[in-house]
Amino acid sequence: MLARILEGKVFAAQIKENVKTEVEFLKEIHGITPGLVVIIVGENPASKVYVANKHKACAEVGIYSEVVQMIETITKEQLLAQIIDLNGNAAIDGILLQLPLPDHLKQYETEFLNAIHPDKDVDGFHPVNVGKLTIGQEHLVPCTPYGCVKMLQLANIDIAGKHAVIVGRSNIVGKPMANLLLSRHATVTICHSRTADLPSITRQADILVVAIGKPKFITKDMVKPGAIVIDVGINRIADKRLVGDVDYEQVKEVASAITPVPGGVGLLTIAMLLSNTIKAVKLKHNIK
Ligand code: NDP
Repeated sequence: MLARILEGKVFAAQIKENVKTEVEFLKEIHGITPGLVVIIVGENPASKVYVANKHKACAEVGIYSEVVQMIETITKEQLLAQIIDLNGNAAIDGILLQLPLPDHLKQYETEFLNAIHPDKDVDGFHPVNVGKLTIGQEHLVPCTPYGCVKMLQLANIDIAGKHAVIVGRSNIVGKPMANLLLSRHATVTICHSRTADLPSITRQADILVVAIGKPKFITKDMVKPGAIVIDVGINRIADKRLVGDVDYEQVKEVASAITPVPGGVGLLTIAMLLSNTIKAVKLKHNIK
């Protein structure tokens, strides 16, 4: 079997086009320019690239964006004050705190994320938004798993009734992914590092989502023929190449559809951030 390759750029382009149309509508009909702020603390080079990409993506679709660059040595109180200030800024609809934080602030990460107003929490990490997702009232949803689900929908892949197996139970990917698939009527199994006999479970998956951060961990023998395989992992290996958590070359021979790394779901994360910003605007102004 030759798998259908689910290319992130195709779906990301569709989502961005949709966002662009929504931005034009908000500007023309309601006189609203959506605004997103990304806070970055310190000089982490990878974070700077991510932030620059987000800024560029906002410009492409007409969202106003601002980068708040804070010096490495700021205190917990200064960062909290910055977040609270942005919560009260009516021109800003979405606030994102770029992670990781410098070492001296890492222990307060949850406190910072919880300080972002739930209605401006475009990363979907606030406990209020996590709770809403859990009870099936999706508000602002974490961008990476939301992007995976959007991609399945855009690719016309049915979720209802399928057995979805998720490998990884992190708060930013595995758990929200499970809730999103459950709300769309999949039968969901979540696996993690203590799961016994993982291959026997992954082999039952109609939809297999992998987010563990282990290069090429999922091999051909762990995948049911015809399964849809979504690889969220991004790993840099010794020769500097980026690879996923799935052994792509092997698994594409048995899967019916598969996302590549790079070029797969990673591209959807920024697209969903833009989409969440529009959602935040519409929720604030009660626009359908
Ligand atoms: P975390 O490190 O937070 O979580 C990893 C999860 O994988 C844990 O639940 C862990 O289990 C589980 N795990 C680790 N080893 C195994 C194993 N051998 N068998 C089964 N489960 C295992 O990672 P994230 O969720 O943050 O990220 C996962 C991957 O996705 C990374 O490669 C990351 O770079 C990538 N990623 C990509 C994004 C994008 O495309 N934009 C966004 C976010 C992440 P346990 O809980 O028991 O420890």
